[in-house]
Amino acid sequence: MKIQDLKEKVLRGETITPTEALALAAHPDKETLYEAAHEITRRLAHRRADFCSIVNARSGKCPEDCKWCAQSARYRTQAEAYDLIDKDECLRQARLHEAQGIGRFSIVISGKRPSRQLLERICDTARHLRRHTSIRLCASLGLVDEEGMQALLDAGITRYHCNLETAPSYFPTLCTTHTQQEKIDTLLAARRAGLEVCSGGIIGMGETMEQRIELALKLRELNIDSVPLNVLAPIPGTPLERQSLLSDEELLTAIALFRFILPRADLRFAGGRKRFSPDIQRQAMRIGINAAITGDLLTTTGSTAADDHRLAQEAGYEPDDTLTDTLHLWHPYTSTSRPLPVYKVERASGATLTLSNGKRLVDGMSSWWCAIHGYNRPELNQAVQEQLKRMSHVMFGGLTHEPAIQLARLLLPLVPPSLQKIFYADSGSVSVEVALKMAVQYWQAQSLATPGNGHLAKKQNFITIRSGYHGDTWNAMSVCDPVTGMHSLFGPALPARIFAPQPRSRFGGTWDEHDTDELRRLIETHADTLAALVLEPVVQGAGGMWFYHPQYLVEAARLCREHDILLIFDEIATGFGRTGRLFAWEHAGVEPDILCIGKALTGGYMTMAAVLATNKVADTLSAYAPGVFMHGPTFMGNPLACAVACASIRLLTSPEYDWQGRVRRIEQQLKDELAPARDLPQVEDVRVLGAIGVIELKRPVDMARMQRRFVDEGIWVRPFGRLAYVMPPYVIRPDELSRLTHGLVKVVNEN
Ligand SMILES: *Cc1c(COP(=O)(O)O)cnc(C)c1O
Repeated sequence: MKIQDLKEKVLRGETITPTEALALAAHPDKETLYEAAHEITRRLAHRRADFCSIVNARSGKCPEDCKWCAQSARYRTQAEAYDLIDKDECLRQARLHEAQGIGRFSIVISGKRPSRQLLERICDTARHLRRHTSIRLCASLGLVDEEGMQALLDAGITRYHCNLETAPSYFPTLCTTHTQQEKIDTLLAARRAGLEVCSGGIIGMGETMEQRIELALKLRELNIDSVPLNVLAPIPGTPLERQSLLSDEELLTAIALFRFILPRADLRFAGGRKRFSPDIQRQAMRIGINAAITGDLLTTTGSTAADDHRLAQEAGYEPDDTLTDTLHLWHPYTSTSRPLPVYKVERASGATLTLSNGKRLVDGMSSWWCAIHGYNRPELNQAVQEQLKRMSHVMFGGLTHEPAIQLARLLLPLVPPSLQKIFYADSGSVSVEVALKMAVQYWQAQSLATPGNGHLAKKQNFITIRSGYHGDTWNAMSVCDPVTGMHSLFGPALPARIFAPQPRSRFGGTWDEHDTDELRRLIETHADTLAALVLEPVVQGAGGMWFYHPQYLVEAARLCREHDILLIFDEIATGFGRTGRLFAWEHAGVEPDILCIGKALTGGYMTMAAVLATNKVADTLSAYAPGVFMHGPTFMGNPLACAVACASIRLLTSPEYDWQGRVRRIEQQLKDELAPARDLPQVEDVRVLGAIGVIELKRPVDMARMQRRFVDEGIWVRPFGRLAYVMPPYVIRPDELSRLTHGLVKVVNEN
């Protein structure tokens, strides 16, 4: 048996057998064993050490006879005995811990089984803590049934702790007043109620190495992923007071074995570790300990949070300076109770993001299509600074300013010539709302324009194509793909739109004239109630990163004209050169009635969007009651945003910048360097258009895992669903782009 073979087995996701574990434990080459465990830890376990803390909320006077325990009423020990502490004292401690960067706080009490009244008081404390802090709450209260667990969960406790303590075969030797099975039943009850569970034990109580393995295997069988490991600190007065001390090697070997058996678990240093030298503690962390209970422990003095943070960093764990973020901030599309990890950016320049830990990442996302010129661009910085000295904001109602006027002058030559009126909006989603409102108001006005046109007032609905994305506000969401946009979640609260199938003819492929059949049928059926067709021309972004044939737009525009339906193009993602044309409509030569732009409008500096409309749309809705367009956001036409948008457009269109050349070179390099991915078994499709490169996988990705691997490779890519894609800043250098594409293909290949 080779240690390396077993390590590879674990890294492949297989489990090792009890015999293999025993052979590992007996292996004479400890250094190799430790190194192998370290590699498993580094590859599979959490990289940020997870710290928790506990409060001994009721101490002593326990009727049980656990031989190791200072709190048993049967032994004469120095342990304090007191009743449940005041909830404000609990809160004080919880706050103190949160301020020290500790994310969890466990309420621990002595005793076998809490009474109903005691449980209710603990729930009351938990509610008090939840009301005033966001530190995550755990509880360790002895044996509790499912109903009790439900009450704890309702009170805001999310994890329940109950140690198995030792191997099933050894437990009866150490405790006779309850069984290990009762503990297991408690853990199962917690899980049934919806709580996470945490369970480990104490080593060094006279058990054999075989029994340590037995404990680890039992924890694996129960699927436990938070495992406190205590080392017995023999306590005077207890039956184990004369137990001989665990050696350094026994400790490290046990940790290595726990890591082999529980490769992804948080192995949590708990009591008794202070007895070991800082060097051994560091080694233990390097081998496999990636979590710790910090601060004072139940009856023994623990370590300070600062010491433990330092120890973890010395052992190679990433410092976590994002706890406040994790506990208090909402990030896009992630849970607040189990958020995906976030990486803290210190600064950014060109195509490089620098994280707070010093790591540099090549940016493959342009911060969601925005930062086309990369970060910290001198021309854009200067525009903001100069505008700042004049004014950062004035209302747009009744006032105007030079940046707004200049921006209009710069935009008009870039957009379809028929789009003569510009409405500045706050964000992409808001611009979509504005476009939809414009379309409805347009048909309202038309219904008043000519006697007998009253039926046009019914044109208030919208048709779109599947797999689209138009933003997250209410009506923008209603025209997003109903599946990826989770329309079922919002039910009838969301207006029901008409959905045509996604165009199937590929960009650059042959045009299938049946591609618009269903669109035609739907338009013919619903024309009376349709105000507009809204879609992303040529490139569908967040709804599926799909590139379709421009002929679709030609046909769609014809259908719209024939059936009195306005055409709205959402070029929020595609605008400003991303697809190889300045705007994607140019691929088809089709001009919409209304156009939304955003994202790269300010070069990624600030939120701003714009809605452009034809004179016909603007004139019509201005001519009839109410005679005005009913929209006017507070920050409309924000001068800072307009000023930086002007600078971004000037830079983009300056001859020296040569955006076409840049995008063409990126396109060619993406085509060349992503091509090898086409042959990978995991890959469904590879497509490139302009400065967008997409690898579509056969199966959905594990976003957190894949993202971590991208960061390891020094690149910033955010995959979603079955898609890993890049749309780098236009200023990316060829060597940076190679790093991005190679990292992307490498990580996709591991998936
Ligand atoms: C991002 C996006 C939006 C929404 O823009 P926000 O600024 O996020 O509100 C709308 N449409 C498309 C095509 C987009 O890519």
